Amino acid sequence: MQMTTAELRSLMPSAIAWAKAQQRLVLQHGACLTESQLALAQLAGVRRPGMIRILVVPAIPMPEEKALRRAATNHLFPKVIHGLTLGYGIYLQRCAAHLRPLQAHEFRHVHQYEQYPTLEAGLARFLGDVRARGANAPHEIDARKFEGEIRAAMGTTDIPAVVRPGVWFSPV
Ligand SMILES: [Zn+2]
Repeated sequence: MQMTTAELRSLMPSAIAWAKAQQRLVLQHGACLTESQLALAQLAGVRRPGMIRILVVPAIPMPEEKALRRAATNHLFPKVIHGLTLGYGIYLQRCAAHLRPLQAHEFRHVHQYEQYPTLEAGLARFLGDVRARGANAPHEIDARKFEGEIRAAMGTTDIPAVVRPGVWFSPV
């Protein structure tokens, strides 16, 4: 059953607090991009790729707070999640972190965040769209399109289906 807009609205303060805390962690502890990652981020349309930090983790973190965790698990996160972008902070799961199409997908989410004045503003839009349209939210379609272009350019269309980058919250 889909979440209602009222349910999502009531969760937004804790979702924003969680996203900000996660973003802070990634910006503090994450690595700068390599030369080839910088080039890929520029190709994705990121205006300030030097701001991006990547933190490689065994598993993408989930909210601890009960209601938010339930919403993330049941409605907002895809079943399999290898990446999560929060503004200029990107979590990548260790098993997939080296995959260029995954990096491309998440860089495109950074570009999308750059269209909004604040993390909150981007998050509100992306979460609202995920609530309504799931994996077919416009920002996910756009990120998958860029990811597909990179796969095609690499000549690798055979990335295992299990490697499905998450949304923003997938993460964006
Ligand atoms: Zn995504």
